[in-house]
Amino acid sequence: MPDSILIICSYCGVGCNLELQLDDNGIPGKSSASGRNETLNDKYLCVEGFFIHELVTSKERPTHPLVRKRGKLVKATWDEATGKVGEVCLFKQSDEFEIAKCRLQI
Ligand code: SF4
Repeated sequence: MPDSILIICSYCGVGCNLELQLDDNGIPGKSSASGRNETLNDKYLCVEGFFIHELVTSKERPTHPLVRKRGKLVKATWDEATGKVGEVCLFKQSDEFEIAKCRLQI
Protein backbone atom coordinates (compact mmCIF):
# COMPACT_ATOMS: atom_id res chain seq x y z
CA MET A 1 0.00 0.00 0.00
CA PRO A 2 1.40 3.44 -0.88
CA ASP A 3 2.11 5.79 2.00
CA SER A 4 0.79 8.75 0.00
CA ILE A 5 -1.32 9.48 -3.05
CA LEU A 6 -1.40 12.42 -5.46
CA ILE A 7 -4.83 14.04 -5.71
CA ILE A 8 -6.57 17.13 -7.05
CA CYS A 9 -8.17 19.07 -4.19
CA SER A 10 -11.93 19.12 -4.72
CA TYR A 11 -12.77 21.65 -2.04
CA CYS A 12 -13.04 24.59 -4.45
CA GLY A 13 -12.83 25.25 -8.15
CA VAL A 14 -9.10 26.01 -8.24
CA GLY A 15 -8.13 22.31 -8.21
CA CYS A 16 -4.73 22.46 -6.52
CA ASN A 17 -2.38 19.49 -6.75
CA LEU A 18 -1.94 17.82 -3.36
CA GLU A 19 -0.13 14.86 -1.86
CA LEU A 20 -2.23 13.07 0.75
CA GLN A 21 -0.44 10.95 3.35
CA LEU A 22 -2.01 7.55 4.18
CA ASP A 23 -1.68 5.63 7.43
CA ASP A 24 -1.05 1.87 7.57
CA ASN A 25 -4.78 1.22 6.97
CA GLY A 26 -4.96 3.56 3.97
CA ILE A 27 -6.79 6.25 5.93
CA PRO A 28 -5.93 9.76 4.68
CA GLY A 29 -4.05 12.08 6.98
CA LYS A 30 -1.95 15.17 6.49
CA SER A 31 -1.89 16.79 3.06
CA SER A 32 0.74 18.95 1.44
CA ALA A 33 1.23 20.64 -1.90
CA SER A 34 2.65 18.14 -4.34
CA GLY A 35 4.76 20.64 -6.30
CA ARG A 36 3.59 18.95 -9.53
CA ASN A 37 2.10 22.09 -11.02
CA GLU A 38 4.25 25.21 -10.72
CA THR A 39 1.77 27.43 -12.53
CA LEU A 40 -1.18 26.51 -10.30
CA ASN A 41 -0.21 25.99 -6.66
CA ASP A 42 3.41 24.77 -6.82
CA LYS A 43 4.36 24.04 -3.20
CA TYR A 44 1.53 26.07 -1.65
CA LEU A 45 -1.99 25.24 -0.52
CA CYS A 46 -4.62 27.02 1.52
CA VAL A 47 -5.90 25.98 4.93
CA GLU A 48 -8.92 24.17 3.41
CA GLY A 49 -6.59 22.06 1.29
CA PHE A 50 -4.39 21.34 4.30
CA PHE A 51 -7.41 19.90 6.15
CA ILE A 52 -9.08 18.19 3.14
CA HIS A 53 -8.49 14.79 4.80
CA GLU A 54 -11.08 15.76 7.42
CA LEU A 55 -13.74 15.82 4.69
CA VAL A 56 -12.80 12.30 3.59
CA THR A 57 -12.93 10.88 7.10
CA SER A 58 -15.87 12.94 8.42
CA LYS A 59 -18.74 10.93 9.93
CA GLU A 60 -21.09 13.55 8.41
CA ARG A 61 -19.92 12.76 4.87
CA PRO A 62 -22.73 11.43 2.66
CA THR A 63 -22.29 7.73 2.00
CA HIS A 64 -25.07 7.38 -0.56
CA PRO A 65 -26.72 9.54 -3.21
CA LEU A 66 -29.47 11.96 -2.27
CA VAL A 67 -32.23 13.23 -4.56
CA ARG A 68 -34.69 16.00 -3.92
CA LYS A 69 -38.33 14.90 -3.56
CA ARG A 70 -41.03 17.41 -2.67
CA GLY A 71 -38.32 19.84 -1.58
CA LYS A 72 -36.48 17.40 0.71
CA LEU A 73 -33.26 15.45 0.10
CA VAL A 74 -33.93 11.73 0.50
CA LYS A 75 -31.72 8.64 0.18
CA ALA A 76 -31.65 7.14 -3.31
CA THR A 77 -29.93 4.44 -5.31
CA TRP A 78 -27.14 5.36 -7.75
CA ASP A 79 -29.43 4.40 -10.66
CA GLU A 80 -32.13 6.74 -9.36
CA ALA A 81 -29.65 9.58 -8.78
CA THR A 82 -27.93 9.29 -12.15
CA GLY A 83 -31.35 9.02 -13.81
CA LYS A 84 -32.32 12.27 -12.14
CA VAL A 85 -29.17 13.91 -13.49
CA GLY A 86 -30.18 12.76 -16.96
CA GLU A 87 -33.69 14.12 -16.55
CA VAL A 88 -32.58 17.51 -15.30
CA CYS A 89 -29.33 18.14 -17.16
CA LEU A 90 -28.81 16.20 -20.35
CA PHE A 91 -31.65 17.72 -22.28
CA LYS A 92 -30.38 21.20 -21.46
CA GLN A 93 -26.70 20.74 -22.25
CA SER A 94 -26.65 23.22 -25.14
CA ASP A 95 -27.05 26.11 -22.72
CA GLU A 96 -24.24 26.63 -20.18
CA PHE A 97 -26.53 28.56 -17.87
CA GLU A 98 -28.95 25.66 -17.80
CA ILE A 99 -26.13 23.23 -16.94
CA ALA A 100 -25.13 25.41 -13.98
CA LYS A 101 -28.76 25.73 -12.95
CA CYS A 102 -29.41 21.99 -13.11
CA ARG A 103 -26.37 21.39 -10.88
CA LEU A 104 -28.11 23.47 -8.23
CA GLN A 105 -31.40 21.60 -8.65
CA ILE A 106 -30.07 18.08 -8.17
S1 SF4 B 1 -5.99 23.88 -1.76
FE1 SF4 B 1 -7.38 25.57 -1.30
S2 SF4 B 1 -7.34 26.88 -3.14
FE2 SF4 B 1 -6.50 24.87 -3.70
S3 SF4 B 1 -8.25 23.71 -4.53
FE3 SF4 B 1 -8.06 23.21 -2.34
S4 SF4 B 1 -9.45 24.65 -1.31
FE4 SF4 B 1 -9.07 25.45 -3.36
